[in-house]
Amino acid sequence: MAGLMEGKRGLIMGVANNRSIAYGIAKALHAQGAEMAFTYQGEALHRRVEPIAAEFGSDLVLPCDVTDPDAMDAVFNVLKSKWGKLDFLVHAIGFSNKEELEGRYVDTTPGNFALTMNISVFSLTALAKRAEALMDDGGSILTLTYYGAEKVLPNYNVMGVAKAALEASVRYLASDLGPQKIRVNAISAGPIKTLAASGISDLREMLKWNEENAPLRKNVTIDEVGNSALYLLSDLSSGVTGEIHYVDSGYNIIGMKAMPKDAP
Ligand code: NAD
Repeated sequence: MAGLMEGKRGLIMGVANNRSIAYGIAKALHAQGAEMAFTYQGEALHRRVEPIAAEFGSDLVLPCDVTDPDAMDAVFNVLKSKWGKLDFLVHAIGFSNKEELEGRYVDTTPGNFALTMNISVFSLTALAKRAEALMDDGGSILTLTYYGAEKVLPNYNVMGVAKAALEASVRYLASDLGPQKIRVNAISAGPIKTLAASGISDLREMLKWNEENAPLRKNVTIDEVGNSALYLLSDLSSGVTGEIHYVDSGYNIIGMKAMPKDAP
């Protein structure tokens, strides 16, 4: 199947490099004909994101730190003047201070709690509000979450609390925006070694555990997340909103892996 995204224009937020989940998503969308704009956070990432955007045929590369409402307004103003409309938005953004992604959740500080919630959760709502104004013909909004929203995982801490709030936001936004045919969904991805994930202490153990215990006995790739994102961002999923879609090799369904009868 080709051309699923032909004629669709969207904003990709959260590419840091070619290992980013947002990169895997952009790759899958580009292969199906999507036209995309990209944002970057901070000058250091500008240099990285520009060639990536070019790889996908885009020269629309805009600065945006989601803690800055004026920066978010500026991005949507540019999209309005260039395109006049928006068909999809990818929110692949999360942040928490590294020092609090280890040890005990109970030691989370108020400052980092607020920062984590603002960048990783509220930004989706702030961006959805701005996207709504450009989605006159409906649209699709996608964010990224993790199983740590539902179950306790070592070191995920305040990020797990943030992802729980993010998943609730997906449902509230889907309800608010559904009447305008704007769909809002999340992919709950299995662990992948990216820049953001490297901030989680013991990521290597997490990857190993997932690989050994998930039904598919492997970790997922950004290409696999990208292909599922293509479904959620295209009209293939026109009847789907408010969903948390797992792309985790099935890890979330397992209570306990069957052990061989003669295991020691
Ligand atoms: P990544 O480091 O490649 O991407 C994270 C992005 O967030 C970066 O591009 C960074 O610039 C951006 N960001 C951080 N603070 C920002 C701010 N203030 N303003 C604007 N952008 C900001 O890592 P990734 O793993 O691709 O992360 C993308 C999303 O996927 C995150 O929400 C993450 O929690 C989620 N996720 C990751 C995994 C995993 O194992 N890697 C699993 C499930 C969900």
